[in-house]
Amino acid sequence: MQDLSRRRFMQGAAAAALAAPLVGAAATRARAASPKKLGVALCGLGKLSTDQIAPALLKTQHCRLAGIVTGSGGKVEQWTSKYNLPARSVYTYDTMHRMADNDDIDIVYVVTPNALHLEHTVAAAKAGKHVFCEKPLEISVERCQQMIDACKAADRMLGTAYRCRFEPHHLECIRIARQQELGAVRIIEAGFGIDVGPADQWRLKHSLSGGGALMDVGIYALQATRYLTGEEPVLVSAMETKTDAVKFKEVDETVSWTAQFPGGATAYCTASFKVGGIKNFRATADRGWFELDPAYYYGGIKGVRSDGKPLSFPQVDMFAAELDDFARCVAERRPTIVSGEEGMRDVRIMTAIYESIRTGRAVKI
Ligand code: NAD
Repeated sequence: MQDLSRRRFMQGAAAAALAAPLVGAAATRARAASPKKLGVALCGLGKLSTDQIAPALLKTQHCRLAGIVTGSGGKVEQWTSKYNLPARSVYTYDTMHRMADNDDIDIVYVVTPNALHLEHTVAAAKAGKHVFCEKPLEISVERCQQMIDACKAADRMLGTAYRCRFEPHHLECIRIARQQELGAVRIIEAGFGIDVGPADQWRLKHSLSGGGALMDVGIYALQATRYLTGEEPVLVSAMETKTDAVKFKEVDETVSWTAQFPGGATAYCTASFKVGGIKNFRATADRGWFELDPAYYYGGIKGVRSDGKPLSFPQVDMFAAELDDFARCVAERRPTIVSGEEGMRDVRIMTAIYESIRTGRAVKI
C-alpha cells in the first residue's frame, strides 16, 4: 500500500520534474485548447532575475519572458537583445501602469527588495496583470494584506515564489510526513545559513528588507516545518545572537527559534547571515527519520532516509517548475498552493519570532 501510494505520488512528482504537481485532465484539456504561453514581465533585474529566473523562463512550457521593468536604463539593451524583447515591453517602475495596454504581458514577477513588493504588486494588479512575487511576500502582515486586497480588487491572482514546493525531493518528504510512513513526525530540525557578504546591500537595511537572516533565509526553514507538518505553529520562542553590531546594526544576524505544532511536533530552527553551510532539514518520526541536505539550494538537492530506502529524484529547475505551475493556475483559473495568503502566513509567524526576540518570551500565535 505504501509502495503504491509512493508510486502514485511520484508519478505526479515526475511531472513536477518538468513543471509541478496536480496535473489533471483539466490541465491537459486546457493545454490542448490553448497552446499560447503566458507572457511574464520581470520586475527588478538583479541577481536572481539575471542568473536564475530569466534562464528558467527559456525552459518553461506554459510561460515565456515577455517584458522587463527596470530602474536602470543601462540594462535595457542587454536584456532586449538577449531575450528578443520589443521596446514597447520595456518599463520603468514609474511606467508600469502602461502595461494595461500590453496584451503580451499576463503575469508580472516581482523580484525587487522585500519592502518594494507591495508597491510593485499594486502597480501590476492595477494594470490588470497577475502577480507572482518573491519571498518574503512583504515585510509586515498589513502590507501582505494590502497586496492580497489589491489583487482581489483587480480580479488577478497573487502567488508567492516558494520554489521548494515544486521540487520532487521536498514533495516526497511531504508525502512521507503526511502519510506517516515512518510514523508521526515529532521533531523537525531545519536551518539555512549564508555568509551574506558586503555591508552595503539592501538586505542589511531594515527599511528595504524588513529583517535579516530570518526574513531572507530562515523563511525556507520555517516553510519546511509548515509543509512537513501541514500545520500552523501555535507557539514560538526565539533568540538572536549578534557578533557584529556594526554590520548587523539594523537587522538580525543569527536567529534560532523553536516552534510548537498542534499535532505534537516540535521544530528547532536556525537562520544565519554569518555562518554559511547550514542548509538542511531532518524530520524525526516515531520509527525513523528523513532529511534533505542540501535542501534549499538551487540544485544538488540530496535526501536520506533512516531505513536506507532511496530518497533521490532527478534535479529540476525549481524556478521553471514554480512558474509553469502558476501559469497553469492562471490559465485554468484555479488557486495556487503558494497563494498570497500562504506568503502572509510566514510573515505573521516571522513577526511573532521577532516579538519573542524583543520580549524574551514565548509568543502564542
Ligand atoms: P538584487 O539586489 O540582486 O536585485 C534587486 C533588484 O531590485 C535590482 O535590479 C535593483 O536595481 C532593483 N531595485 C529597485 N529599487 C531598488 C532599491 N530601492 N534598492 C535596491 N534595489 C532596488 O536582489 P535579489 O537577490 O535579486 O533579490 C530580489 C528578491 O528576490 C528579494 O525579495 C529576495 O528575497 C528574493 N530572492 C529569492 C530567492 C529565491 O531563491 N527564491 C533568491 C534570492 C533572492
